[in-house]
This record gives sequence, C-alpha cells and structure tokens, in this order.
Amino acid sequence: MTIKDNIIIVGNGMVGHYCAEQLIMHGLHETHQIHVFGEERHHAYDRVHLTDYMSGQDALALRLHQDDFHTSHGITLHLNSRVTDIDRAQKTITAEDGCLPYNTLILATGSRPFVPPVPGNTGTAGLVYRTLEDLDLIRAAAEGARHGTVIGGGLLGLEAANALKVLGLDVSVIQLGSHLMPAQLDEEGGRALKHRIEALGIDVRVLHVTKEIVAGTAHRHKLVFADVTTLETDMVVFSAGIQPQDMPGRACGLEIGPRGGIVVDNQCRTSDPDIFAIGECALWEGQIFGLVAPGYTMARTVAALLAGEADAAFTGADMSTKLKLQGVDVGSIGDAHGQEPGSTSYRFIGEAEGSYRRLVLSADGTRVTGAVLVGDNSYYDTIFQYVQNGIAPPADPAVLILPRGEGAELLGADALPDTATICSCHNVTKGAISTAIEQGCTDLATLKADTKASTGCGGCSGLLKSVFEAELTARGMTVDKSLCEHFSYTRQKLYSLVRVHNLRSFED
Ligand SMILES: Cc1cc2nc3c(=O)[nH]c(=O)nc-3n(C[C@H](O)[C@H](O)[C@H](O)COP(=O)(O)OP(=O)(O)OC[C@H]3O[C@@H](n4cnc5c(N)ncnc54)[C@H](O)[C@@H]3O)c2cc1C
Repeated sequence: MTIKDNIIIVGNGMVGHYCAEQLIMHGLHETHQIHVFGEERHHAYDRVHLTDYMSGQDALALRLHQDDFHTSHGITLHLNSRVTDIDRAQKTITAEDGCLPYNTLILATGSRPFVPPVPGNTGTAGLVYRTLEDLDLIRAAAEGARHGTVIGGGLLGLEAANALKVLGLDVSVIQLGSHLMPAQLDEEGGRALKHRIEALGIDVRVLHVTKEIVAGTAHRHKLVFADVTTLETDMVVFSAGIQPQDMPGRACGLEIGPRGGIVVDNQCRTSDPDIFAIGECALWEGQIFGLVAPGYTMARTVAALLAGEADAAFTGADMSTKLKLQGVDVGSIGDAHGQEPGSTSYRFIGEAEGSYRRLVLSADGTRVTGAVLVGDNSYYDTIFQYVQNGIAPPADPAVLILPRGEGAELLGADALPDTATICSCHNVTKGAISTAIEQGCTDLATLKADTKASTGCGGCSGLLKSVFEAELTARGMTVDKSLCEHFSYTRQKLYSLVRVHNLRSFED
C-alpha cells in the first residue's frame, strides 16, 4: 500500500470504535488515512451498559474515549453521517457529508432491533431498546404512564423490563415461546427464572402471540393476543431479536445470508476482498454474534491482517453468559442445551429458594461442556473455567452444582493455567495478568488500564479480582483491600444491573 491509503470504517459503535483503536495499536494511523463514519450523533458509547443511562447516568459517562482520541491520532471522525452508498467499481463510499475513496473498507454497522409486523406498533406502542435516542423516547413515553409492556422474554427483553421498572412503571413481559431466555436456558431453567422475575413484581406471560395493538380504555393501548385475551398498557417496547444492519453491503452486491448479515470468511473478508465486515453485521459460518467480545475479536483479526499478519483469523467465539437482573443470578455456559451428541446432565433443583443448576458433560464424561445456572452465579466462574480450559471434571461431577458445604470447593484462581482466558472481550489471559504484575502493576485500576481486562462488558470483574489477589499473594505481596473494595463498590454503584461475561445474542 502507498502511504496514506484510505481505510474507512463504517459504523462508530462499540466494534467500529474498537477497530479504530486496534488500527492505532498496529501503527496503521501513521501509514494510512483513517476515516470513521457514524450514523448516530453521539461519540462511540458503551451500549452494553446502556441501562445505566436509564438509571440516571450521564451519556458522557458511557463514552468509550477521550475527546481528542481521533484528532490526536489523525483520524477523521464523521458523526451523524450515514453511509448511503458503496461503489465497489470506483472504490468510493457516499455519506451524508460527501463522497470518499477507499482502499480498504471495514463495515461495522451493527444490528437493529427486529420489530414484528404487529398492527398498531407505532408511537408509544412501538418503542425499541438499542440506542441512547431509543432510551430518550422511552423516558418521554413513561411520562404520565403507569404500565409498560415488553414484547420479548429474551435477555435484552428482561433488561428492558428492568429499565421500565426503574422508571417506576408496573411491567409485563410477553414471551412468544414457552420459557424466558430460551437462547441461554433450558425449559426448567426458564421456568425457575420466571418464578424469580414474578417474585420481583413483574408480570410474565409465556406462550402469548400478540396479534394487534389497539387503543386502550384505562391505559393508552390494548394488546390483543391470539387467544383473544388482552392487556392494557401505556407503552410497548419491542425486544424480539436483532436484525443485522447489512444495508450498505447488501445494496452494493456483497454476499448476504438468507436471513440477513454480510457473509464473511475466517479473515472477516466479505465477498469483495477489499471489504471486511465485523461485529453484529457480519455473518460467520451462518452465525451472527449478538455479543461484543466476538466483534472485538473480529476487529483484532482485521487490524492484524492489515498490519501484515497474514495468519490472523477469526475462528468463532464463546457465547457463555452471566448476568444479575435485579438480584436474580442467571448463567449459561458453553453447550448449555446439551446439544453435543450423547451428552449427559446432572441437575440440581432447589424448589424452596427457586434455584436451578444443570451441568452438562460429554458423552464419555471426560469433559464439562456446559451449564445452566439460575439463582446463584457463585458457581459460574469455576464451571466456566472447567469448560473453557478442558479441566478434567472431579470424580463426582455433581459436586460442581451441589449446594456449597456438600459440594466441591470452588476452583481457586491459582488452579487456573496461564492460558486461561480471564477477559474474553480483550482476550486477556491469566498469564498476561501475571506478566503485568511482574512488571510492577500492583493495583487493580492500573492492571485494568495496562491490560484492558474487564473494560469491555465488565463481566470478568470478579474473576479478575480473584486472579489479581492470588497472583499478588503468590508473590508474597499484600493485597491493598481498599483499592480492591473501591473497585467493586464503584461497579456496583454505577451498574444497578450488573452484566457479567458475555451476554448471548438477543435473537429470541
Ligand atoms: C441494552 C443492551 C445490552 C447489551 N448487553 C450486552 C452484554 O452485556 N454483553 C455483550 O457482550 N453484549 C451486550 N449487548 C450487545 C452489544 O452491545 C453489541 O454486541 C455490540 O454493541 C455490537 O457492536 P457493533 O459495533 O457491531 O454494533 P453497534 O453497537 O450496533 O454499532 C453499530 C453502529 O453503526 C452505525 N451504523 C449503522 N449503519 C450505518 C451506516 N450506514 N453509516 C454509518 N453508521 C452506521 C449505527 O448507528 C451504530 O452506531 C447489549 C446490547 C444492548 C442494546
């Protein structure tokens, strides 16, 4: 490439922005002219923690970078500028603020909420939960409202329900299928979660098909279901899955999957070798990853390739999930549904306290392949490490899900191999943490800044803390509890809804 060839990133979301950071990390901003186009008027922000905005956090606090990030690296940022056309023959893009040539084009256009074609789904009966603007609309709709409904009982639907509750509304969740969070949980786990969510005062209706939304009597709207029952509500938020935002790629003739998404290979290249697609707009082996960590891995792959690392590749991503929703722990690890042929399961059901745990093993019993957890995520980190690192299960694998006291000790951080991935978003291993400590990093804030661990979805914060403490202790160093406690306190305070590890795609 000649000096100052153009690299254009279309999409200034989490993955597009991370890609710009990766290009800088490889020094490509010095040899290339980089442009980033973002349709939203905001600087790149942390969509994963969007709900904090609803809980009162300033939009600025969600921003992913300093004010001078682009200018100080010679990157041109085009905010509020949608790319409307790609001319592959001329190698140009057209945006709302002009036309530019590219040598390499990286599409990071993300996805948008899927809104089913329910008649009447407009205005306050047709809200979605994806951007800061969406949340402003929801907040405005909540003025004078008493009841809100979320259509979709997946992970994101429950998060939206939580947001409506934060706004002081009575909330109903309408789920088409037989149980909540079907992508992550089995039937039994979904049932346990329903009981827990209902105990929080949220009305959950499963197996409900919304036929239409008409004017209400006691409330603004009335949902009419297929079984002719109805529900009056003041606002409706659709959270019925995501749809890849593949439009600029589709219009210029790139290969698109049958259900949408820009088809990419293991190098995240589209059907045009000069165009890459990363994040939620990219379809890899028939899969759209509705999580930030796989998008980051894709971004790292493309930046490495452009920097000349010819063997850089995206080879898939772990979809384990852990979250706490208003105090309810939910976890889903690896092959949670036991889809691997011949796999067997152990199940623990605690009816009294409404907990459910399932441990999935390979057919020959030599590997822990997955788990479902409802009610207590203190089991998560240990089982996750068994799955992730192929650690041989204990003689009686059931101890991994039995109530503590009868069950196995948690796998300590010191038992993890150096190759164990601690932060999936930034691909930080235990070995990298150990190296950072060797190099003088003795407080968590510095460790985070140096390694970037726990600065993505934030899910690994607990594990990072225990690995950090174990590594310090192993070196005979004192753990500064005040710094550690400050760290966890800040997270709890900021995030009323704590998300841990990857959250699964919201296509349910
Ligand atoms: C409420 C919520 C909670 C979530 N929680 C988690 C979680 O806990 N863990 C997790 O891993 N994931 C979570 N996710 C998913 C995560 O946010 C996404 O995986 C991630 O944001 C995907 O990044 P992206 O850059 O591919 O897409 P996006 O973040 O959607 O960014 C794409 C950007 O491209 C812009 N764009 C689109 N078309 C154009 C165009 N033609 N021209 C210019 N710009 C364009 C869009 O406006 C958008 O700003 C959550 C999502 C939501 C909504």
